[in-house]
Amino acid sequence: MNRLILFDIDGTLLDTGGAGRAALIDALEDVFGIPSHKAPELDLAGATDLGILRGLFTHAGAPLEEPGIQVFLAAYLNRLDARLRALEETKQPLRGVHDLLRMLSSQPATHLGLLTGNVRNGAMLKLASFGLHGIFAEGAFGDDHEDRNKLGPVAVQRMEAISGVRFPIEKIIVVGDTPKDIACARALGARCLAVATGAHSPDSLRAHSPWLCVDDFADPAHIATLLQTDS
Ligand SMILES: [Mg+2]
Repeated sequence: MNRLILFDIDGTLLDTGGAGRAALIDALEDVFGIPSHKAPELDLAGATDLGILRGLFTHAGAPLEEPGIQVFLAAYLNRLDARLRALEETKQPLRGVHDLLRMLSSQPATHLGLLTGNVRNGAMLKLASFGLHGIFAEGAFGDDHEDRNKLGPVAVQRMEAISGVRFPIEKIIVVGDTPKDIACARALGARCLAVATGAHSPDSLRAHSPWLCVDDFADPAHIATLLQTDS
C-alpha cells in the first residue's frame, strides 16, 4: 500500500548553522538598506518564508506585494547561496538523515515529499548544499502560501500528480521539528512524527500531541519502521 511522508527541512533534515537567518538579514540590507543591527528579531522555527517576509517588510515600512517580493527573494537566494558555499565542505545533514532517507527511498511504495516553509528555490539550495538533492519528488513551499497550515493539501496534490498515486489520509505522515509542523499535519488530517533536533525539546513538542515524538534520527532503521507503520 502506497504511503506518503512529507518532510520539513530546517531542524529536521539539516541545520544551516544560521546561514538561512543571516541571508535574510543580508537581503534586508541589500533591498531596504537596513543594517543588521537594526534588523528585527526573527522567529524562524516553523515559519514560512512569506510569513517572515511580511515581518521584514512591515519593519521596513514596505507593502508585501509584487514586484518587491521577487526582488527580496532574489537577494535572499543570492546571499543564501553564498553563505551555504562558505560553510565547511564537510557539512552533513543531521545525524541519521542520510541513512533514513536511503532506507525509505528503497521502498517502492513509500513516496517522499517536502512540506517546508522555505521558498522552493531556497529549499533546493539547502538540500543540494547538504547532498540531499534528487530525493524528494515534489512538495509544498513557503512561497505557495504564507500560512503553513495551508501547505499540506498543496503538497499532497503535487505528490499525487507527479506519482500518479492517490494517498489516503491515513497513509500520510508529516515529519517536522516544531509545534507548527504538528499543527500543519493536524490541519491536513495527517499524523505527525515530531523530532526534537530543532529549537524545541521533546517535552515542548509532546505538549502539542503529535502522533509520535522522537529525540532524533540516530537510529534510522527504527525511525524508518515507525514511518512505515499504520496508525
Ligand atoms: Mg523546521
